[in-house]
Amino acid sequence: VSARKRRGEIPRALAAQVLFVSDRTCCICRDGSKPVQIHHIDEDPSNTVFGNLAVLCFDCHRDTQIRGGFDRKLDGEQVTLYRDDWLRVVARKRASAEVRTDREARTDVQLELATSIAEIYRENGEWPLLAAHYDEIGNTELRDKYIEAALGEDPDDSEIFYLRDMQGRPDLIPPDVAERELARRAERNDWTERARRLITLGRVPEGIADYLKAIQEDVKAGRYFPAAFYLKEIFREELVEELFKLDLQRSIDERNLWWQVRCLEELGWKAELVDLLKENAAEIRRSLNPELRSLLAWAENNEEEYVEMRKAAVKGTTAGPGGVIWFKDLPADDADSEIIVDGNVRVNQSPRDKPNLEKFTS
Ligand SMILES: [Zn+2]
Repeated sequence: VSARKRRGEIPRALAAQVLFVSDRTCCICRDGSKPVQIHHIDEDPSNTVFGNLAVLCFDCHRDTQIRGGFDRKLDGEQVTLYRDDWLRVVARKRASAEVRTDREARTDVQLELATSIAEIYRENGEWPLLAAHYDEIGNTELRDKYIEAALGEDPDDSEIFYLRDMQGRPDLIPPDVAERELARRAERNDWTERARRLITLGRVPEGIADYLKAIQEDVKAGRYFPAAFYLKEIFREELVEELFKLDLQRSIDERNLWWQVRCLEELGWKAELVDLLKENAAEIRRSLNPELRSLLAWAENNEEEYVEMRKAAVKGTTAGPGGVIWFKDLPADDADSEIIVDGNVRVNQSPRDKPNLEKFTS
């Protein structure tokens, strides 16, 4: 064992690099005011390669030392996840600082700062971080080059997932890799990370279910910030719309006009709604459903009919027992024969189900 491989001896140049790319800040709590130390992620002090080193404050370092049971807060895999995420945050901040000063005279220091992160990653063969760096500054060619380099080095499931997601190519994630990654997140009760991966894979309902599991746990435990944060993420990612789109597809497949109408209303797709109502005008008139007929009148700009049908809908007098029109049992060439009105499916049973006309009529 050489002298430099004794405990705690990280080559000075390497230590400087690790501190630089971490902004001398603990990658877990990210509190820039705390003193930090360099931690060996696999706890082997002789393994002094860049990828095994993370900057931690003393509090967070202690959390890696508690062993066994539920008290062990941070294992190596988690520290790696936190570290890589933090390095990306630092790189992003520096990249955006670079963009901001783009049109002004940049100082040598700023230029050096902007390129040195990429140099450090390249020097240390940190291809995933290098790919992320180029992704941040919008250089997709170099991003993809280093994604391929990273994929050539036997990456683990999380890394494959992360790289393909960054590339916008979740279709290239092998199914067994995806399943193992999802199983691992479930084992750790890491529902929000699992939710994000499910969304990446296009499995929106399962993803939302996992988000809600996490949010429910957070609310029950009084952790309102993460609960609010992930609720916001659901809306920001437009996952609510995705659910409406899925149900729109289902109702098209089932040839159920009512729920097509409702989905289009909720999605705010006015032109598609008008087209749908007009295409099915004959069936709607025969249905005696005042809700649908008032919508049709609205689509056809027939104000008189609209007012009459709204009155009828409020009174509930002229409508039959239900209002759902099913086409699926109708022979296509015999559409005249009958309209199936399913009296068991009650519509407009709550105010929330009422067609929201306001947003279209304004
Ligand atoms: Zn810390």
